[in-house]
Order: sequence, then C-alpha cells, then structure tokens
Amino acid sequence: MPISNTCVKTGQHSVAMTQIPYPDQPGPGQALIRTTLSTICGSDMHLVDEMPIPAGVPMGHEAIGVVEAVGDGVTNFKAGDRVASGCLACCGMCKRCQEGDHSVCETFNAPGNLLFGAQGEYFLVNGAQAGLAKVPDSLSDEQVLFVTDIMSTGFAAIERAGIRTGDTVAIFAQGPVGLCATAGARALGAGRIIAVESIPERVAMSKRFGADIVLDPADAVAKIQQMTGNRGVDIAVEALGHQATFANACASVRIGGTVSSVGVYGAFPELTMATGGTFIHRKLVTTLCPVGTNRLERLMALIAGGTVDLTPLLTHSMKISDTPAGYDLFRKREGGVLKIALRP
Ligand SMILES: [Zn+2]
Ligand SMILES: [Zn+2]
Repeated sequence: MPISNTCVKTGQHSVAMTQIPYPDQPGPGQALIRTTLSTICGSDMHLVDEMPIPAGVPMGHEAIGVVEAVGDGVTNFKAGDRVASGCLACCGMCKRCQEGDHSVCETFNAPGNLLFGAQGEYFLVNGAQAGLAKVPDSLSDEQVLFVTDIMSTGFAAIERAGIRTGDTVAIFAQGPVGLCATAGARALGAGRIIAVESIPERVAMSKRFGADIVLDPADAVAKIQQMTGNRGVDIAVEALGHQATFANACASVRIGGTVSSVGVYGAFPELTMATGGTFIHRKLVTTLCPVGTNRLERLMALIAGGTVDLTPLLTHSMKISDTPAGYDLFRKREGGVLKIALRP
C-alpha cells in the first residue's frame, strides 16, 4: 500500500504534511499517480483561507506524474505512463462532456470536481479515462506542468471572449493566470496587448510573455481610453478576483466588446459594474479551467511547437515535504514568487 506524504488543510489558514495511505488497486475509473512535479495555486489560498473546506482534505490540483495503477474501466492508460491530469475531473460521457465542456461535467458535479491531493507523493484521479493525457517524451515536466490548470484557464479567458485576429486585449493583473492569459492572447492572434500590473517582477514577466505595454493600475482605465481613442478595448480580462479589477475591466471594454472574468472572487462576492452608468451591448463571460484528454493534448502541442514557453513562471523550487512553507511564501507574494515547483 503506497503511503503518501501529502499537504493537507488542518484548519482555516493552516496546512501541514500528513501520511495518507492509498490502495494498491484504485477503484473503478480511477488512476493512482506517483507525483514527479507539483505546484501551489492561487486558488489553494482561497480553499485554505476562506472556503469552508473541512480539515483533513489533501491539497493540490496541478501535477505531472507516472501512473502507478489504474482501476476498472481505465483502458487508455497503464502503469508506467507519464501523464498530466486536468485539475477538474470529467467523465467524457455526460451531455456537457459530449459538448466538449468537460470542466462542467455532470457526473462529477462541477465545480465540486476539483482534484485534491496533488501536493503529495501520490494522488488519486477520478475519471482518469477522460481526464488524463500522456506527456510526449520530448517535453519535460516543467514545460507541461501548467497545462493542468493555469495555462488552460488563461488561454480559455481569451478563447471564451471570442478573440478575433488583431483584437486589442487588456488584461488586468499579471499573476500566474493573468500571465497565461497574456501568453494566450499573443498565441491566439491579439493585435495589441495591454497588461495592467504594478509588481516589478510581474511587469517584467508580462513583457516577456507578450504584453506590448504594461500600465499601472492607478490610472490604467484612463490610459486605455486614451490609447483607444475613447473606444475601449475589444476584450478586457479580469485575472485577480477583486472588485477593483473587475470594475476596471468593465470600464475599459468597448461597446460590443467582451469582459472575460477568470479571477476567483473567493472573499469578494459582490461586484459592481462601474462603466459610467451603462454596460449596454457588452458581453460578460466567465470560465472554469477547460480539461479532458483532448484539451491537454492541444495545449501540449502548442508547447511542443515552440509557440508557448511558460517555464519562466517557475520562480522557486522546493521539496513536496516543504509545501507548507511554500504556502507562506505564496501568500506574501514576496521574492518575485509566481509558481513554486514542488518535487518529491
Ligand atoms: Zn489552480
Ligand atoms: Zn461528464
């Protein structure tokens, strides 16, 4: 029986390492994965600090690993396969999955289908047959780690906004997801990319990932209006989950344009559309991380083709056994931290 040293929530604002036993033989539809690279996500802070997730829940939903064993019904993957797992479980069979909308799978009851336990030496994946993807030998764990969540989410922010070739895109906040949205806007054909961020390391990374200009949040809306002849941008992405960035995104989008919200408004559920009195003839879309084998393979194809390299996001590295210290580092947003590589 594999025993996994895993980071678990121990109460509000606290996590600790615990030994979790996993079965040698996973249940139907499940796969047991031995972690080779994992990381911490901004949404982990919401889960630990704000949400009523009970103590004892194993943390982590972004990881690459090697299949240890599979349960009944999992025929596409076998022990020894190197795989990426989407951060949300999907069945591949229900109506939503058949429409290609795997992140809102009805079988695993989105949004309660989040993967748990990937910040451990082993983790168990539900719906493995539809939710895993083999990692090509030519790609490293570091290159593909973010297809599991933030790359898929950041790209989807642009995709669900219905980007057209040459669109002007403003992206509010350049944390890990916002930076992935910037890389996505560049890869998907944006004309001009205006990022909004004030932390110097994030400003630098934003330019590296494709932003044409990075504005300070204090006067970003006024500058965006100036730069667009008072029309506003075609697409405004909210990537932080705060009232102010959402209001600024609404105030920056042109009539007929789209606000695309991917921030997690954990403790900030009340939003006001500050658009000078009207939000007339604009669109608002929100997005859960797209998942499923096909999605993961498509994202890895972009990486393999050289269009996207997100490895600079891995600013720090530590052992999985030190994950709780990683939470402290991540919360403080100090030392230029973007993503922390967690290794066994
Ligand atoms: Zn995440
Ligand atoms: Zn489904």
